[in-house]
Amino acid sequence: MSGGRLRGIWGGLGGLLLATALMLTSCSTGGDGSDRVKVVVSILPLAEFVENVGREKVSVTVMVPPGASPHTYEPSPSQLVEVSQARMFVKAGSGVGFELAWMDKIIGVNKRMLVVDSSRGIGLRKMEPHHGRARDPHIWLSPLNARIMVQNICEGLIQVDPGNKDRYLQNKEGYIRKLEALDKDIREGLSGIESRRFMVFHPAWGYFAAEYDLIQMPIEIEGKEPSPQDMAKLIKQAKENGIKAVFASPQFNPQSAQAIAREIGGRVVLIDPLAKDYIANLRLVLSKLVQAMR
Ligand SMILES: [Zn+2]
Repeated sequence: MSGGRLRGIWGGLGGLLLATALMLTSCSTGGDGSDRVKVVVSILPLAEFVENVGREKVSVTVMVPPGASPHTYEPSPSQLVEVSQARMFVKAGSGVGFELAWMDKIIGVNKRMLVVDSSRGIGLRKMEPHHGRARDPHIWLSPLNARIMVQNICEGLIQVDPGNKDRYLQNKEGYIRKLEALDKDIREGLSGIESRRFMVFHPAWGYFAAEYDLIQMPIEIEGKEPSPQDMAKLIKQAKENGIKAVFASPQFNPQSAQAIAREIGGRVVLIDPLAKDYIANLRLVLSKLVQAMR
């Protein structure tokens, strides 16, 4: 289904769904969990951040589901109902395709909700040359950026629910300590690695690489599969740099990564830029990187 068509259907359904949502809200009697602050987020790592700051005080809905690409995902009409009931929406704010295409629509459904830009205070880096988008949207993959995002989320929760300010501040401090421990462990884990290059299909790891003095070699070019000429160049580069593992992520078809791995006698390793369990996931990514680059 084309974006234009779905947007058209959305426009028509919007009023009806909103009316239904308002009816449901007014009929609810405030039973179990209805006093939780309803928060909608665009991508899974943001859900993890909100849940760690809000704990039992929030209920979180994610727009881009597991396995979908946030660069191309289109929301379902039923997600509109969730948005219409939300007190707060957290966006990455860094130019994720889903947000660029849908934020106006989302805000139009619920003008009263607070929209938190989690990227506030983070300097956006440029994409590698030949990578289409001018700015790299994958800010969350540096734990130090995550710390800023968590701070922004905490301020948002305090704004919509000032009664629980102390609890939010305390939860936030606890989670930030875990992010700082993660950062320290990544630095230590990578400290002995001499060849700092890694090859990956979708270049989501630019902030991570910049933070930890690594060099990301993307396979995807301007969001597209590489041409045969590009492939030949990539295989040459991989051989020259002694690369043995080609990274790919579950959101993308690993065909070209597999082709390169075959040519260099290496293997494809999956790393997920969007896993919900943020800290455990980055520890897993660390161990896979260390294993591949050692
Ligand atoms: Zn991406």
